Amino acid sequence: MNTYSASQNQPAFALDKQSIQILESISDGFVLLDSACRVVYMNTQAETILLRTRQELLGANFWDTFPGSVNSVFYARQQEAIETQQPVQFVEYAPLLHKWIEVRAYPAAEKLALYFLDVTQRIEAQKEQEEVEKELRVSEERLRIALKNSSITVYQQDKDLRYTWIYNPLPAFTPESVVGKMDADFVLPHEAAHLTDIKQRVLATGQGVVEEVKTTIDAGVSFAELTVEPLRDCTGAIVGVTGAAINITQRKHMEEALRQSEVKLNTLIDSNILGVFIADATGKFYDANDEFLRIIGYSREEVISGKVCWNKLTPPEQQEEEAKVVQSMIATGIGPAWEKDYIRKDGSRIPTIIGGAIFDKEKLLAIAFVLDISGRKELEERKDNFISIASHELKTPITSLKGYTHILKRKLDQQGFSEPVGMLARMDTQIDHLTRLVSDLLDVSKIQAGRLEYAQVSVDIDTLVCEVVESFQQTCSTHTIIIHGVSNNHVVGDGERLEQVLTNLLSNAIKYSPNADKVDIYITTVKGQVLISIQDYGVGIPQKHQDKIFERFYRAYNEGDKIFTGLGMGLNISYEIVKRHGGKISVESEEGIGSTFTVSLPLDS
Ligand code: ADP
Repeated sequence: MNTYSASQNQPAFALDKQSIQILESISDGFVLLDSACRVVYMNTQAETILLRTRQELLGANFWDTFPGSVNSVFYARQQEAIETQQPVQFVEYAPLLHKWIEVRAYPAAEKLALYFLDVTQRIEAQKEQEEVEKELRVSEERLRIALKNSSITVYQQDKDLRYTWIYNPLPAFTPESVVGKMDADFVLPHEAAHLTDIKQRVLATGQGVVEEVKTTIDAGVSFAELTVEPLRDCTGAIVGVTGAAINITQRKHMEEALRQSEVKLNTLIDSNILGVFIADATGKFYDANDEFLRIIGYSREEVISGKVCWNKLTPPEQQEEEAKVVQSMIATGIGPAWEKDYIRKDGSRIPTIIGGAIFDKEKLLAIAFVLDISGRKELEERKDNFISIASHELKTPITSLKGYTHILKRKLDQQGFSEPVGMLARMDTQIDHLTRLVSDLLDVSKIQAGRLEYAQVSVDIDTLVCEVVESFQQTCSTHTIIIHGVSNNHVVGDGERLEQVLTNLLSNAIKYSPNADKVDIYITTVKGQVLISIQDYGVGIPQKHQDKIFERFYRAYNEGDKIFTGLGMGLNISYEIVKRHGGKISVESEEGIGSTFTVSLPLDS
């Protein structure tokens, strides 16, 4: 029997011996309170859990012995039990005890039985488990985000190779449509057999496999890098396979496209229609095809060993130009095609057209294509020779034709035959036209051969322009030629050749403006240069032709217009003459509005 001696701690009741025996044997801590919350009884377990001895607690107000506990959940819940007279059960952390306690409070008349259980271990294990689960959820989420929109599928299959789990399957499938099925349900039979073979090998050997596989699903071919690993249970026994399939279809297509373009390039290189070489910006060669080696006359070993480099192969007078081409290629990636001669091993020269492009920006590696144009050049030379000889040969008979025409005209004139004299005058004009054509042809061939000669005298510009205009105006009745401005200056050069330039430009201005009635000539002086501009109001020149009309035999074709006769020599000769005088010739033109040709020449200082 448990009794209390102190009068203020007078127990309201007592427990019998048998009850005490039972309460001492249970694993819960047990505390019995009277209506004033005084401890009537507590078992040994309660001492251990509450870290208080019986001496401290018996007869004392239970809550007083735990400072601050009246504000705690423990207090509130026991009050609830008393007030409602209903049992209450809860788990709460007791900071004073550093424990999680499960409490069951059973109210009875004037009494409250409290059962305490230290559940710290259980709660901590639970918390740990929650933490682990949270971590797992986070890492799963991370995996989900990482795989989202990626081309990686992860999967698990059982021993029969049925899918038990799949994540991020191919877009045509959902995980639900795959789980429970086998590879044979999706791909062609021989592909399924191959996949099964790989996976069964992993099941049998326990060794992982990585292999590229091809699958056909609904007629769509895809390629994957397949990883298969054995799936083991906690005892280490193999229960299936797991792994990932990385969709590499796009990469495969790119590889194929690359392979095909490589094949095309190699075919081009091996065809030897063009010389091809690979070199860096310093001129060191890395590779060359047979045609390039034939062009330069060196062996592959000589070229690749570094014995031969650009400078050795390029004529000195072309090296500056070549450096510019290389710079432009480095800047833009593609070099402009240009004509260059190669110095061959035997010292001879071979003309080529070469174009190249940088294909490795870091190492500045370029691939270049070289076309041997010696055959074409030879033909051109033969043609130039022919023009030169033909124009020479034509000159003599034309001169004597002109001579005899004059004699005949004079004689018939003396005899009073006016009609044949008129005919001979027209014949004389045509002979003049022929003479000009032949002389232009001769000039073109001389320019080509660099044999056109120039006098070096002081030429009065205003006189030159006036004389040309006057002689034109005598024969031209359709157009009025108006000179604006004066120069009051001289240039050094060949008066006759400069006259030829102005004559060409003026006759073009008249020829190509059949519906106009005037041509304007402007003379101005700007920064030591005289500018002579000849403006017509004719058919104009389409933009796409404008930078080519100074080339030999080039003629711009005016669609829809009447076809103008000519051979495309005048502007080329004019261009060369002006260039030799240190000047420039340019054009501004608009179709249907007219053209302005401007010659600029340096003044005689
Ligand atoms: P040709 O006049 O004999 O054809 P040119 O060398 O003088 O040869 O001129 C070359 C081309 O430039 C001409 O065919 C013509 O198409 C164009 N051209 C030259 N001058 C003019 C001009 N004033 N107006 C329009 N087109 C012109």
